[in-house]
Amino acid sequence: IGQQKPCLVYGFPASQAALARLDENDKRVACRFELYGAGITPFAIILMLICFLLHGQFALMMWVVCLSWLFSVIALALLVPLEQAAPSIAIGPTSGLACIVIAHITERMRIEQFEIVAKLNNTNRQLQLLSSQEHLTQLLNRRVFDEALEREMARSERFGHPLSLLLIDIDNFKSINDTYGHLHGDDIIKKVAMCLRQHVRDVDFVGRMGGDEFIVMLIETDKNFAIQVADRMRREVSGIHASEDAGPLSISVGHAQFEGESLGAFIERADKALYQAKKAGKNRVRSISSGVS
Ligand code: GH3
Ligand code: MG
Repeated sequence: IGQQKPCLVYGFPASQAALARLDENDKRVACRFELYGAGITPFAIILMLICFLLHGQFALMMWVVCLSWLFSVIALALLVPLEQAAPSIAIGPTSGLACIVIAHITERMRIEQFEIVAKLNNTNRQLQLLSSQEHLTQLLNRRVFDEALEREMARSERFGHPLSLLLIDIDNFKSINDTYGHLHGDDIIKKVAMCLRQHVRDVDFVGRMGGDEFIVMLIETDKNFAIQVADRMRREVSGIHASEDAGPLSISVGHAQFEGESLGAFIERADKALYQAKKAGKNRVRSISSGVS
């Protein structure tokens, strides 16, 4: 600057004034920190940044502000006359506190926003779950089951994976309702639903068709394995009793393996198999493939 000596000027808004002061006051100084010329603005900006970086750590923020102020006081006292440094020294703590307050308020707002978003996400998840469940059994409702079935049918066609469907109906359920009442009948439906859910993998789907009828989709499962699964369910359901002196509960199961037909035709084939199981005396599994049982 003029004398082509290296010079460091500190301060953004007042840099022109600072340069002028350098020329007038001390032309022999090669390097000088113009701390007071820029006022407290750069100090406040740097503090503000530090406060944001340390958000949430109130004690540490206080330490940083106090130490920064202390160092500024020392630097100012060494570099400039006290009467010029005094305003900056006096404004220092106020600015520091202002920075902390602003950082604190910003952080609170940020936390509140996070909490609101988290609550909304949670409510959305619950709503999604509720709208996909059938209210008595918490199994999938028919709409969601059909959507999943359509998706899996497309996947099965594309990748050539086997896909099996089981239609399950509780045998003689009307007599349970008649003997023990509708509420007890509800409990039995819930127990059967839980039992079915326990006998499939997490990737499989279990839904309630309505009444005492359930529908199960077994992903990447062929006829042989699906019949084994259905038989296991049948045996497990026989462990459920409507009352201590009542006989074992039983289910009839109709099976169909996907053969590229429409959703309606696929379910209808499983339904025909279920009808055959009922007709053959109940408490058994029947399968229909390509028109042959
Ligand atoms: P089948 O062996 O041929 O299946 O005879 P079933 O007595 O089980 O007769 P069906 O399956 O045709 O009838 C089911 C009965 O389930 C009819 C209805 O009164 C009863 N039901 C339907 N929905 C509910 C429900 O949500 N709760 C209760 N407790 N009963 C229901
Ligand atoms: Mg029934």
